[in-house]
Amino acid sequence: MAWYKAYKGKLAFWVSSLLAGEDWLDHGITMACQDEDPFFNLGFSVEENGEQVAARRGLVAEAFGVPPAAWTGVRQVHGDQVVWVEYAGGDGHVAAPVTYQEEADGLATTAPGLLLATMHADCVPILLADPVRRVVAAVHAGWKGTALAIVQRALTVMRERAGSDPRDCLAAIGPAAGSCCYQVGAELAEKFAHVLSITGLDFTPRLDLPEINRRLLLAAGLPEERVDKALFCTICGGKSFFSHRRQGSRSGRMASLIIRRS
Ligand SMILES: [Zn+2]
Repeated sequence: MAWYKAYKGKLAFWVSSLLAGEDWLDHGITMACQDEDPFFNLGFSVEENGEQVAARRGLVAEAFGVPPAAWTGVRQVHGDQVVWVEYAGGDGHVAAPVTYQEEADGLATTAPGLLLATMHADCVPILLADPVRRVVAAVHAGWKGTALAIVQRALTVMRERAGSDPRDCLAAIGPAAGSCCYQVGAELAEKFAHVLSITGLDFTPRLDLPEINRRLLLAAGLPEERVDKALFCTICGGKSFFSHRRQGSRSGRMASLIIRRS
């Protein structure tokens, strides 16, 4: 298992070999710097012309082979809500999904053709897939969402709505702030004392959020060989990544995306 760079059309994405093996879905996390656009921001929260962001989202949808209306996002609030997404019309055509713009940090669906998206700049992107029930989910987990175990909440929603067994599920944990760089204060370190990673000579506490989320997935029942954790750090990983820690308010947002094809 590994994460690697792959092109869909002209756009570069990070993809997981674990999910790439599933022909009924497609997925990817956009790279911050594209060949033809060095600031490939997909977040409307960033100070930038909204039309430009919308145009880039259109390019991403096109790369996935779906209309711009298939893009399905939520208003991320660092909570633990995971919304179940369905077609508004229920007629099998891509329309504005009923939950669009709801406050949440995760989305899940069995509806083919909906491009589920969460936005990231250091927070952990987690893509979930159940090949048995054909369910896909996208999760945004910063330290708050991780403390609330939002990734387990997503698995619960998948089970309640579609009967997913966590033992059947696949999880791809994308690039995020790594334990090499993600320094935190003593209070926050204490909250995660069970999986704290201290490195370097300064003895400053650092959190390993991707690893904490991996352990949450294993605790929920996913077999180890069904979790693919990226090893890239968005803070020290360079121009391929947006990083709120490194770039502050100038940071753009990468999109973490998954879609059920069939
Ligand atoms: Zn780092």
